[in-house]
Amino acid sequence: MNPIRLALVGLGKIARDQHLPAIAATEGIDLVAVASRNARLDGVAHFATLADLLASGEAIDAVALCTPPQGRHDLAAQALMAGKHVLLEKPPGATVSELGPLVAAAQASGRTLFATWHSRFAPAVEPARAFLAEVAPRGVRVTWKEDVRVWHPGQRWIWEPGGLGVFDPAINALSILTAILPRPVFVTGAELSFPSNCAAPIAATVAFADADGLKVQADLDFLQTGPQSWDIEVDTDRGTLLLAKGGAELSLDGQVLSAQPEAEYRNIYRRFVELVQTGGSDVDLAPLQLVADAFLLGRRLDVAPFHD
Ligand code: NAP
Repeated sequence: MNPIRLALVGLGKIARDQHLPAIAATEGIDLVAVASRNARLDGVAHFATLADLLASGEAIDAVALCTPPQGRHDLAAQALMAGKHVLLEKPPGATVSELGPLVAAAQASGRTLFATWHSRFAPAVEPARAFLAEVAPRGVRVTWKEDVRVWHPGQRWIWEPGGLGVFDPAINALSILTAILPRPVFVTGAELSFPSNCAAPIAATVAFADADGLKVQADLDFLQTGPQSWDIEVDTDRGTLLLAKGGAELSLDGQVLSAQPEAEYRNIYRRFVELVQTGGSDVDLAPLQLVADAFLLGRRLDVAPFHD
């Protein structure tokens, strides 16, 4: 089979940090074009917008959308209508309901739609899921605290409607949680702290439960200086399971069970190639639904304005 000819749309932080090296390292897919208003890559065809690229007749088979979530639906719809396979960065959209028509369009055109959750490809996630399939969780604490000024400098879109604020990183925790727990969880309460000059929260606490009464508590903060925390702790009858560093390391009562090198985006592209070759799609909206429900049920607290 010929390699998939891919165009990257939105050549920003994640496209440069992760997508470019992962594409270069993956068999069966080649980067042939970039659509980005303000950035270009030497040796690769450049277009300001996806519409310009599609109108140009440049031969591509697929697009990877690395733009902010607001506007991603329109880009995905354009690409599917033009008969291209589509890879979506997380979160897959700015709303849950906009994804239904995209899934239908992909089905109708026989193209692949892949809503990626990069944290699910972190190396200790599958060992954690396998452990919790055998040993029942008794209680769960999610601590996702990072410094937005370090990880998202100057990204205004994060504070706009649909940008998710602290849920932009925290949805990664929810993508892991929904992959490792034996049963689906639902939101039972939330408090969301909105800076007075922002349309998205800078901190939140969210409580979840499952049908068997398991309780999950999430503590999310975007103003964490010093050590950063991307941890999920699970109490079990065998001890406390700690999935640390965003899914990279797994330990039980301090004893390391799994610590493999990170390969999240290589695994994403390997899976994309496999989906295109087999004619499949992969769209799981559970993490985005939980964020939407936290916004639905959450009590809003007004806090100090945020400035980069
Ligand atoms: P970013 O650095 O702001 O890059 C996004 C790019 O999209 C920009 O460089 C911009 O390129 C293009 N763009 C198109 N329309 C835009 C608009 N209305 N506002 C701003 N940029 C626009 O963002 P990012 O960190 O790469 O994040 C992009 C997506 O990847 C987000 O959904 C994020 O959640 C996800 N993600 C980010 C990270 C991370 O660590 N940063 C990790 C995993 C996933 P042009 O101006 O050249 O068009």
